[in-house]
Formats: sequence, structure tokens, C-alpha cells
Amino acid sequence: QVGEPSQLKALDKFENAADTDYADRAKRDRIQSALKSVRQQFGQTYLPLINGEFVETAEKLKSENPSRFSETVGTIGLISVDQAEDAIASAKAAFPAWKRTSAQERAHILRKAANLFEQRREELIAWMTYEVGKPVKEGDGEVSEAIDFCNYYADEMERLDRGVDYDFPGETNHYRYHARGIVLVISPWNFPLAIPVGMTVAALVTGNCALLKPAETSSVIAAKIAEILVEAGIPAGVFQFIPGKGHTVGAHLVKHPDVHMIVFTGSQAVGCQIYKDAAVLQPGQKHLKRVVAEMGGKNAVIIDESADLDQAVQGVVQSAFGYSGQKCSACSKAIVLEPVYETFLSRLVEATRSLNIGEAELPGTKVGPVIDKEAQNRIQKFIEWGERAGTLVLKMPVPEGGYFVGPTIITDVSADAKIVQEEIFGPVLAVMRASSFQEALDLANGTPYALTGGLYSRTPSHIEQAQADFEVGNLYINRGITGAIVARQPFGGFKLSGVGSKAGGVDYLLQFLEPRVVTENV
Ligand code: GLU
Repeated sequence: QVGEPSQLKALDKFENAADTDYADRAKRDRIQSALKSVRQQFGQTYLPLINGEFVETAEKLKSENPSRFSETVGTIGLISVDQAEDAIASAKAAFPAWKRTSAQERAHILRKAANLFEQRREELIAWMTYEVGKPVKEGDGEVSEAIDFCNYYADEMERLDRGVDYDFPGETNHYRYHARGIVLVISPWNFPLAIPVGMTVAALVTGNCALLKPAETSSVIAAKIAEILVEAGIPAGVFQFIPGKGHTVGAHLVKHPDVHMIVFTGSQAVGCQIYKDAAVLQPGQKHLKRVVAEMGGKNAVIIDESADLDQAVQGVVQSAFGYSGQKCSACSKAIVLEPVYETFLSRLVEATRSLNIGEAELPGTKVGPVIDKEAQNRIQKFIEWGERAGTLVLKMPVPEGGYFVGPTIITDVSADAKIVQEEIFGPVLAVMRASSFQEALDLANGTPYALTGGLYSRTPSHIEQAQADFEVGNLYINRGITGAIVARQPFGGFKLSGVGSKAGGVDYLLQFLEPRVVTENV
């Protein structure tokens, strides 16, 4: 009789961390005092962590506040290629003991990290507010997500660790998961806490050693992650924090023969380059590398003639302009069926006009700055192209002193226009007309991306057709399309939106593991 494949049955229940209820005055006061105290810590220097030591670096980088670019949030030491080699050497030395550490013990460290993230919730939100211009409420959700990743992957590893036993009379067959080796984590600035934490703890709990190279513009927050993982008990060499330049240190490590796996979230151009470089077998390399790359999106929301327009307007505004459109899940095309097009558009413009634009730390701010000067220039260019290709319906005015871009709505653009095809990563929304539901779906699917998508409809046949034909990894019906929650909406796309399986879902950890079978005659 076959053993018990049910050993790997999915977990029945997972409890997500709760976001803060800011209706509570005491909680609002707590975040205000955290903002004050974090501001007093501006200007400190953060060093890389290699083999358990904070090491000096020749090169340094200043991280600025995008809401007020005259302010330096902190200074980061950037490692050299030689220091990257030191990190690899100590990861190699630490790996044998770490992979033999029990899954329970590794999971225990993640749960401890989760508690530390919770204890430092307000402080972490404040760092995000200042370093990447994220309004408090969005930062709060992100701390919850980081906590969820720790607790969920801890549970998941304990589940997978049981393996599967296929026992027959006279023969046992043990199917078990083993760590791969060294995992290079290359993380983005737009979810500077949740995404690096998720990718890193997934690598660690599966028994791999992790090297975290954060995006340059969110290095201070990444340094906070490093502090917490060390405090939680990750041993020296097992986790290392290696801020560095992408085109030197990052590229060197991607090609390194001792790296087993690269986990990346960022732009499509960088993701494709990593995929290509990682595929080349280097001298001395004894394995093929696995790449998990979460890349961009060009996400559409379809609004049909049966939609609840109040709901649709609110969902599109939040999905398009929340965190200034800097989410790969953000809505950048609203595709509206002819009969409701004019009504939807005028209500959308009114609702967008009511958004407060300003410094991320101010309590009333709904839309903060974009990440840096380069992003501001790039988004402005897209707006100019959009203006030439269609009609500029709204561009909100912005304050001075930060990298602000006003929420922008453009209509009358053709399906092949640049602003309809390319990821902008800013608060720019194209609103398009469709004369049939099929045409709406074709417009939505007409890009190389397949990440998130949405439909507002009360027509069962449309909902059914979207489920079958809308080419996205995460489809949301009658709600906004951002803010996926761990173990509820495992997140990730396909086509040119990425390779690898969904973060916060049942398949995610498998990517960090090698299954092996041991058969014994008894
Ligand atoms: N998981 C996030 C969401 O659902 C998006 C992550 C990203 O932008 O990379 O909104």
C-alpha cells in the first residue's frame, strides 16, 4: 500500500497579521511619535554585514527623502567585488551546518523575526515613509505582509519537511526536500520591507544561505531588516546584507559559479538580463541556477455596463494612484464599455481630483512622491508621449521640494500607444473605450505582461469569460487590484511578468528546495 501522500496536504488555516486601525487616536499618536523619533536618527551610516561583522567600505551612498530631497535619510556602505567574494566564502562555510539545522529550529527563528517586526511596526513604517515616500497606511500593510511571510513560510517549511513516505512491503521510499545552497536575493525599493523579507526568509527557512542585495534607494530599510534577522538568531554567514551597485557587484554575483539560485523582483529589463546571465555555465560550476524573477505589469481593469460604478471608481483610483502607481500590481489601463464610458470617466476625474498630494509623512496625504529624479523624469516623458498620442484629461498640480508627479488621466489612445503598452510605474492612467466585452478583454490582454487584472461587473457570463480568458496571474473581480495578502492571494504573474511561482502561496518554497528520494530494502 502506498504511504501517505497526504503528509503534504496544504495547511488548513493561516492567521494573517492585523493592520493598524488608525481610527484609534492612541495608534495615530504612536505613529506620530515614531515619525519624530526616526527623523532624529537621520544621517546615520549603515554598513554591510559579512560573516557576522559590519564591514567598512570604500564606497558610500546617500539615501534621500523623496518627499523632501534636501534631506538625507542615511548613508550606506556599498561593498566591492572583493567583499562580495568574502560573502560567498562565508556563506559556503556556513551552509553545511545550516542545512542540517532542523526545519523546526529555522522556523522558530522566522517566528521570532515576525515578533520583532511587530514590535517595531511604527518605526519601520516611519523609515518607509521617509526613505521611499510611502504614506503611513500603505507602510502599515507592508509590515503586516512582512510578518505574514515569516509566519507563513515557517509553517510551510514544517509542512514540507514531513516529506512523503511511499512504503511497500520490504521497501521504504522517503521523498524529502533539501536545501540548494547559496541564494542571491535582489530586492526592489517599492515594497522595501515585505518583498526583501519574503524572498530572504524563504531562502533561509528552506536551509539555504541568503545574500540580500537591496535596491540602492531603499538601503536603510534593508539595514533594519538585517538588524532584525540577526537579532532573531540567524547565524553569521547564513544571512548576509550586501548593499552594492547592481551593475558591478550584482552582475558579478549573478554570474558567480557558487550561487545556486537568484530571486529577483524588479524591472523586466533587469530580470531578463539576470535570466540570461544565470543560464551560462561558468568554469567550476556544478549545477544549473534557478531564477525566480518577478517583473513588471501593465495591468488593466475592465468596467462593463453592469458594473457598480461607485465601487469601480473607488477601486480604480486606489489601484492606479495608491503609492503613486509604483506597484507592479497597479492599474494603468481602465477599459470601459461604451454605455458607461462617459459617466465612469467624469466620476473618475472627480474622485481623482479629491486626492491629497504631498509629503508622505503628513496624515492627510493620499499620494506621495515618486522614488527619485530619474523616475520623475521618466514618468513626465510618458505623460508627454501620452499627450501627443491622445487627450490629457487631468494632471494634478504638485507641491515643490520633492519628486512629485500629479495623478494623470489620458484618454483617446490607441491600443499600440506607448502608454498603453509599456510599464510606466507612476500615477498615469489610460482610460480606453470598448464596444464589446470581447474587445475589452482583447485590449486587456494585448501586452506582453500578465500580472494583475480586474473586472467590475454583475454579469455572470462576463465574470465567467474573464476567469477563463483574462491572461493574468491575479484576477480580481469587483475590487481593487493591488494589495495581495499572504496565503489568501498568492501573488505573481506569467508571460513577461515573470518566472517562478507565487509569493505567499503553497508552491513558493518548493523553488528553494531539491527533492530527493531514498529507497531502502528492509
Ligand atoms: N504584492 C503587491 C500587491 O499585490 C505588489 C508587489 C510589487 O509591486 O512588486 O500589490
